[in-house]
Amino acid sequence: MAKQKDDTRKDDLRTGQPFWLSLPGSSVNFRADPEIGHVDVIIVGAGISGALLAEALTRDGKTVLVIDRRAPVRGSTPASTAMIQHEIDLPLTALRKQMPPRAANAAWRRSVAAVSDLVELTERLGIDCNMQPKPALYLAGDQMNGAALAAEAAARRRIGIRAKFLHPSEVLEDYGIDRDGAILSYDSASANPAQLAAGLLRVAQKRGAVIAAPVEITEMAELPSGIALATEDGRVLTADHAVFCTGYEFLKKMQSSLHKVTSTWAIATRPLDSMPAWMRETIVWEASDPYLYFRADPSGRLVAGGEDEPTSKKNTRKSVLQRKSQRIAAKLENLTGVSVGKPEFRWAAPFSVTEDGLPIIDRVEGYDRIFAIMGFGGNGITFSMIAAQIVTAAINGGKDPDAGLFAMR
Ligand SMILES: Cc1cc2nc3c(=O)[nH]c(=O)nc-3n(C[C@H](O)[C@H](O)[C@H](O)COP(=O)(O)OP(=O)(O)OC[C@H]3O[C@@H](n4cnc5c(N)ncnc54)[C@H](O)[C@@H]3O)c2cc1C
Repeated sequence: MAKQKDDTRKDDLRTGQPFWLSLPGSSVNFRADPEIGHVDVIIVGAGISGALLAEALTRDGKTVLVIDRRAPVRGSTPASTAMIQHEIDLPLTALRKQMPPRAANAAWRRSVAAVSDLVELTERLGIDCNMQPKPALYLAGDQMNGAALAAEAAARRRIGIRAKFLHPSEVLEDYGIDRDGAILSYDSASANPAQLAAGLLRVAQKRGAVIAAPVEITEMAELPSGIALATEDGRVLTADHAVFCTGYEFLKKMQSSLHKVTSTWAIATRPLDSMPAWMRETIVWEASDPYLYFRADPSGRLVAGGEDEPTSKKNTRKSVLQRKSQRIAAKLENLTGVSVGKPEFRWAAPFSVTEDGLPIIDRVEGYDRIFAIMGFGGNGITFSMIAAQIVTAAINGGKDPDAGLFAMR
């Protein structure tokens, strides 16, 4: 069995070094040979989505093979700032205009439940990843002013989601931030995403899952007896089902005009000598475009991100990384008044958005036994949790009541 090395392949998904990969605990043992015979499920992709699914399926006693074209947990997952939010990129008030209000309400409620399920799962499995339930502060910005946020908070409360509108004077007094109001919500969390994914994969391994890498899938087919996946080096792997958890990379057959792959940037500061007490405990983001978001890590660093660009190409440029990371640090200082200095870690990666902010969790068109989960936005980890629940139910022959909300549209 090969030990994981920290170097990734030449076609690294990320530019720069994500902070999380400087910490221990993000490695998982894997083997090179994926040929272990027919299994119940092949999961393509060993990031947080594949890890949550592998945990859920092995919990149900399924035989599972997880494969990845890179080492496990070396795709976009370690690039995540891992603000595990129930708040979907599209506000409830806006989502209710894009789909039937009942469906929008259900998507928001499911997101709240998913964060709570993930926190509980991490605790139950004893995964050491600094999972910490946290409130979130959503600041007024150029996309939503104070009045719009007040309406949003009221809409959330009407469907049973805890949210409090803070007046500008309260935001200034409690957080030292000068904005036209904010929403304080209560059901989010943060964690080390690389340790979380690696911990889940180790749990699945202990239950018999096999992880093989580097193995790249290039083709797929459905047979009367199940599915077959072809690898880049000419092997054929078979299973009853396959699930593509490939993040922001897709086989041609899965490409969809519903989601766009974009670029995003993130930084981690040095451990700060001091920060206001609220900052250690609170996730912060803003209703602006481009937006800034940040949260503290237990070492006293601030992990922040934003500056998104609508193309997937820009994140590969080192000069852009320098400029964007400085801008994130400057915005962070301006907003909070806390001096953060030069970022110690800076990185960039692809990201994706759908128009309604919801992911796509469904069978691949034309296939009955092959699923794909994609189109993750700012709360990708929450959506990975929902995807693991929906796909596990489908593979077990049932139907998750919310499956239709996230189906191919
Ligand atoms: C900078 C940044 C900040 C973010 N911040 C947050 C945040 O604060 N909160 C949040 O919830 N989400 C955030 N996200 C989003 C979140 O990180 C993603 O939604 C999540 O990492 C996606 O996980 P995944 O497992 O689906 O994909 P990945 O981690 O990318 O894993 C997919 C894997 O599939 C493999 N693969 C691809 N194609 C093939 C193939 N053909 N054959 C074999 N293997 C293949 C890849 O090598 C990869 O390892 C952020 C993302 C970025 C980039």
